[in-house]
Amino acid sequence: MTSNNPELPPGDGPLAGRHAVVTGGSRGIGAAIAAELAGLGADLTLMGRNNEALGRQRDTLTANYGTKVFDYQVDVGVADQVANGFQWAANTLGPVDILINNAGISPSAPFHRVDEALWANVMETNLSGAYRCTQAVLPAMLEAGWGRVINIASTAGKIGYRYVTAYCAAKHGLIGLTRSLALEVAQKGVTVNAVCPGFTDTAIVSESVDEIVSKTGRSEAEALAEITKYNPQGRLVEPTEVAQAVAWLCLPTSGAVTGQSIMVDGGEAMP
Ligand code: NDP
Repeated sequence: MTSNNPELPPGDGPLAGRHAVVTGGSRGIGAAIAAELAGLGADLTLMGRNNEALGRQRDTLTANYGTKVFDYQVDVGVADQVANGFQWAANTLGPVDILINNAGISPSAPFHRVDEALWANVMETNLSGAYRCTQAVLPAMLEAGWGRVINIASTAGKIGYRYVTAYCAAKHGLIGLTRSLALEVAQKGVTVNAVCPGFTDTAIVSESVDEIVSKTGRSEAEALAEITKYNPQGRLVEPTEVAQAVAWLCLPTSGAVTGQSIMVDGGEAMP
């Protein structure tokens, strides 16, 4: 496998010459996944809404790994931006071999306060975004006879939680998309899987801790304990633990694993 960009030499590792797109690759779980894939030799396009954050992560990866890393500003909730972003990515690094649908938001509210705007924003980002990005890359994967689509769902794709109805609905939907598409492309060399983290040490959780502190007056430690109590291991999952599960699914040797939802949650959900 060689890169389509003749100006830069091909990398090393089991994913050398593979072009991976990570949505929401600027921070949190997406940044950890991007680093893990770069470590395995993949070339990367990072997508997200914040250009500066993307640029910082691009520079970090470029400095730490010998692979090609580009970034492009895309809101996965906006169809035109997705189309333009993936066209640019394919023109820059060649057809996409690996897609990580990671971009996501997690606003919370009791159901009676979930208005049309909140519902639509969560669906557009967490579910329709994955649909759009996957549509953008699938034809080239089918033509190549090889591809990996990995949807970052959640334990909330398997079980319910209070105050996050839209998030749970979108993540359950993402697992449905994963299963159906895995069957459709099963004989084409393309695998489609979901990875389902439990509460993971990123901005999403620190924002929830802040919210609990401000709404209940509890200490930060007490608020964190409210979250870690869900995990039988009594801790937050580390972003790198999620990233390593994703990386395993991307390996050439993982071709028989498809349609699955891999829990990375300390045993929280055993559906
Ligand atoms: P972060 O908030 O740390 O990162 C979210 C990433 O998604 C950022 O890079 C953000 O970049 C990007 N993003 C958000 N909205 C959009 C959008 N509309 N278009 C493009 N990019 C977007 O969250 P995490 O790393 O924690 O979450 C990553 C994924 O993991 C999400 O899908 C989340 O639901 C899932 N998850 C997280 C868990 C946790 O406890 N942390 C548990 C289970 C699942 P920018 O803002 O610049 O666009």
